[in-house]
Amino acid sequence: MSTFQAPKGTYDLTPPDSAKFLAVREAIAAPLRDSGYGYIETPGFEDVELFARGVGESTDIVTKEMYTLTTKGGSQLALRPEGTASVLRAALEANLHKAGNLPVKLWYSGSYYRYERPQKGRYRHFSQVGAEAIGTEDPVLDAELIILADQAYRSLGLRQFRILLNSLGDKECRPVYREALQTFLRDLDLDEETRRRIEINPLRVLDDKRADVQKQLTDAPKLRDYLCDACRAYHEEVRALLTTAGVVFEDDEKLVRGLDYYTRTTFEFVHDGLGSQSAVGGGGRYDGLSEMIGGPALPSVGWALGVDRTVLALEAEGVELDLPVATSVYAVPLGDEARRVLFGVVTELRRAGIAADFAFGGRGLKGAMKSANRSGARYTLVAGERDLAEGVVQLKDMESGEQGPVPLADVAAELTKRLG
Ligand code: ATP
Ligand code: MG
Repeated sequence: MSTFQAPKGTYDLTPPDSAKFLAVREAIAAPLRDSGYGYIETPGFEDVELFARGVGESTDIVTKEMYTLTTKGGSQLALRPEGTASVLRAALEANLHKAGNLPVKLWYSGSYYRYERPQKGRYRHFSQVGAEAIGTEDPVLDAELIILADQAYRSLGLRQFRILLNSLGDKECRPVYREALQTFLRDLDLDEETRRRIEINPLRVLDDKRADVQKQLTDAPKLRDYLCDACRAYHEEVRALLTTAGVVFEDDEKLVRGLDYYTRTTFEFVHDGLGSQSAVGGGGRYDGLSEMIGGPALPSVGWALGVDRTVLALEAEGVELDLPVATSVYAVPLGDEARRVLFGVVTELRRAGIAADFAFGGRGLKGAMKSANRSGARYTLVAGERDLAEGVVQLKDMESGEQGPVPLADVAAELTKRLG
């Protein structure tokens, strides 16, 4: 019989690498938790209409990348391709915006699904940590989110990332720009699909990665020149707040991002060590999204950082994470009586908060000591019949090699002291 493999474009996270993913998720979440963001979890699938409306009918995500399914009961669902629409849906459903405390600040962590062409840094099942601040229009909030993402990446030791910043305008000024851009684009030499895109979502053409397209875009009208006074002032305030916080960013007039719902502040975190999948995270303001999915006007801002690409970025920079040791103490029993006694000691250590593991399966001393080494434990406990008769266990410091007897009753206290 043939063995099974993970589906194309997916991967398993297995030890020891899986520890890096946990550490990255934790490092991104920590500054959010410390800044008033509450944890939210939503289902892995939603009504397909939520994404069609909330992400945008003309986006790649909705037209090409969504995993859709019809349930036995006839419902049309989609595996979630992103987090924002679901989080806003859940916040509205729970009336969080009516509790009187705006903005509603939320963070999340989970798996997302997009039917893409798999390659390094691009998978069909991937992992994001995200944050959303719902219900307030305030440039300080936009700045806060960018600063917290910057803080998260720095706390991981990343340095070679850049922050790209742009403003997409609002419902006053963007339509005027859109028309000017369409007029410009219609005169260019472009393929059929791109010509269609000009009519549906012209800003996305600016995002085209092909060099021959980019060359033709040099003289395209710039959104910056079309921003209304309110959008311009808002954007200048965000820029000033970032500068005051010492966060370096680059103005990128061509940054538009793939989702339809963005307004005003738009940003992306790119890493220079990742080749073509260079975006490690992105986000922006989405003032119109709530109304698009049937809610009240709730101006909001958020981001999502890709855990997979952040791990790749760490590898590209050669950053070794300071991972917590998995096992501090490893116990090796010699004989049945020692097995009962030492397992009791391990249980006591664990209850005292010391990470402890055990040589299972009644192996000989040599094999068990190999496992002790592999576990990375700082100390081993070895006990045989003679030790037990004397009421002691042998405690070995794996770093110095020193070894000596410790009375059974004192083992937990002694190890607590030594491990500080
Ligand atoms: P890209 O332009 O690379 O397709 P995107 O604009 O579609 O990215 P977002 O929807 O903004 O990405 O998602 C935020 C982050 O999630 C990205 O910056 C990236 O790190 C990660 N991400 C998005 N799609 C994938 C994927 N298919 N595989 C792995 N990570 C992904
Ligand atoms: Mg994409």
